[in-house]
Amino acid sequence: MIPLSVPHLAGNEWKYVKDCLDTGWISSVGSYVNRFEEQMAAFTGAKYAVACMNGTTALQVCQRLIGVEAGDYVIIPNITFIATANAVAYMNAESLLMDVKADTWQMDLDLLERFLRTETFTKDGHCYAKKDGKRIACLMPVHVLGNVADMDRMMSLADEFFIPVIEDSTESLGSYYKGKHTGTFGLMGCFSYNGNKIISTGGGGMIVTNDEALAKRAKHLTTQAKIHPEEYIHDEIGYNYRLVNILAAVGVAQMEQLPEFLTKKKYIADYYRNALQGVGDITFQHVDSDVKVNEWLFTFKSKHSRQLLEAMKKADIISRPFWMPMNQLSMFKNNWYYNLEDVSNSVYKDCLSIPCSTGITDEEMAAVVNVIKAYFKA
Ligand SMILES: *Cc1c(COP(=O)(O)O)cnc(C)c1O
Repeated sequence: MIPLSVPHLAGNEWKYVKDCLDTGWISSVGSYVNRFEEQMAAFTGAKYAVACMNGTTALQVCQRLIGVEAGDYVIIPNITFIATANAVAYMNAESLLMDVKADTWQMDLDLLERFLRTETFTKDGHCYAKKDGKRIACLMPVHVLGNVADMDRMMSLADEFFIPVIEDSTESLGSYYKGKHTGTFGLMGCFSYNGNKIISTGGGGMIVTNDEALAKRAKHLTTQAKIHPEEYIHDEIGYNYRLVNILAAVGVAQMEQLPEFLTKKKYIADYYRNALQGVGDITFQHVDSDVKVNEWLFTFKSKHSRQLLEAMKKADIISRPFWMPMNQLSMFKNNWYYNLEDVSNSVYKDCLSIPCSTGITDEEMAAVVNVIKAYFKA
């Protein structure tokens, strides 16, 4: 069996976890949590990093930090993993679904600009929807598959319309726009270390920011908002969302290997692009020249995506379709979906992700390519 994308635990994971077990520092306080945060701040170039239980909780806490309230709108791309939309729903806010571009599969900024100029108004430093007067409290771009939209343009639109930006950078560790790491454009950026991400702690997340006050409050909120060293005095309703030391230990070991992982991901993507170029109707994700993509999960487009999935399944090769667009899910079907021609649906129907674990061998990639070529009789 060739899996889609599994963790690669080839470094100091065992040693650092054993250290936690030997010393008893397994829980929410410990040196590995701090080290992991320092590594993430250093790697992304953000001033501060705050570890969380997972990426979803990180997205939720960030919205709380900027004051997203019940009834507000939060703009997200219509194509994303469900966690983005769920995190908005946890705030009792409504995700306002923006259609994506057919070539990059990121939020369509022409559409975003058209939306902001025609459907909203600003007043006293906030942005509101004309149709119902509800506030647009946050713009939450997702760097889908580690690719990145034109961040200069996005940030200038957000500034013009007074909309704070929180980046869902969960898939983009190791991705840059004009040399600047994702997650450092908005007020805060969120990362994930879920099992299939580029590095994994089993489950885990991180908030990065350049704002000291936001970083302090993020740590405060994720650790039950306790304000006294001994007495159990809490000054607001917090969360038990801190990453535990034993998982951070895995994270520290994974971060040590991240440069190697990125090199291997690039190698995998180049291998597939070379081998699949011109095969059947296959096309690849467009990446703008300003973007350095982490090549986290290799995905292509073909009208035959589901037949290819079946063909690979028969050969014990795991491939996966793209996420169903948020507007097609029952929970969000009545949300405001801003689009001109529902590009999301065709991206969804055509995209297929194929095996690209960091530990994949050339033989395994050749086997994947052979099944695809056999299907197309290429
Ligand atoms: C993985 C992912 C998340 C959530 O991360 P978890 O750590 O699994 O909670 C959020 N958004 C997107 C786009 C993701 O791919």
